[in-house]
Amino acid sequence: MINAGKLRNQIAIVTGASSGIGAGIAKALAKDAATVVINYSSSEDKAKRILAEIENIGGSGFVCKADVSKEEDVKRMFNETIDRYGTIDILINNAGLQNDASFHEMTLDQWNHVIDINLTGQFLCAREAIKEFLRRGVDPSRSKSAGKIICISSVHEVIPWAGHANYAASKGGVMMMMKTIAQEYASQKIRINSIGPGAIRTPINHAAWQKPAAYKNLLKLIPQKRIGEAEDIGGAAVWLASDDSEYVTGITLFVDGGMLLYPGFEDNG
Ligand code: NAD
Repeated sequence: MINAGKLRNQIAIVTGASSGIGAGIAKALAKDAATVVINYSSSEDKAKRILAEIENIGGSGFVCKADVSKEEDVKRMFNETIDRYGTIDILINNAGLQNDASFHEMTLDQWNHVIDINLTGQFLCAREAIKEFLRRGVDPSRSKSAGKIICISSVHEVIPWAGHANYAASKGGVMMMMKTIAQEYASQKIRINSIGPGAIRTPINHAAWQKPAAYKNLLKLIPQKRIGEAEDIGGAAVWLASDDSEYVTGITLFVDGGMLLYPGFEDNG
């Protein structure tokens, strides 16, 4: 059921919310009383199932089809949200994918596909959100901030990842976009941060956790010795979206069970 509601009266768009981390964040925001726009690109049924789960706990929102890499789709999604609810308070820039290849075999299409969705998609959504935050400014009945953007990045914004140059480059790009726009709009009380997940149990990385041998191997990289769950990211997103983090902008909050702690040195290397 919905709790006291740190996000009451606030409207959130979550991109790529029909599965995995996006679905987990959408449910966590709804539990704290935000109204949630469940964006999806192809899986309407799955998006409707997430909305039904939200409505079952007393929450509200709608499902919205949009490809985040297409400017006209993104504009339509923001216009539709503002037409329905008057404004938007929170953007969760989550949609993303992998398209892996050895670097010397990577096609330009594979490179562009990942950059277009993971980086350009975040640019297009953040730009529309910031326009709306600037138009409305701070409304103390909603939040101490004019708006909040949370970019879902990855530990691979700092850890190089052989065989995934397009993905790692997209997340490194998200980091510098996030920090730059956090600096650019801090004085207008717009807060922009990232979450850097480690390994989270979702469809994107099923090969790393579905088979016991692969899972055992994965745990070597995680000092806490468990894979993360979408709920672990949901809690971090609620905190970054709420006034509890009002003085926080321009950071990446890594939620990774310690993956960035050089686990190879756990037993003195
Ligand atoms: P996922 O595959 O379950 O979710 C990705 C979502 O993005 C899907 O719902 C997909 O339909 C959507 N999407 C893809 N292209 C889109 C487009 N053009 N427009 C709109 N939506 C689109 O995987 P996930 O793990 O939940 O990934 C979510 C985010 O978390 C991604 O940005 C990913 O890079 C990041 N991430 C995941 C992990 C992990 O271990 N799972 C780790 C670090 C970062």
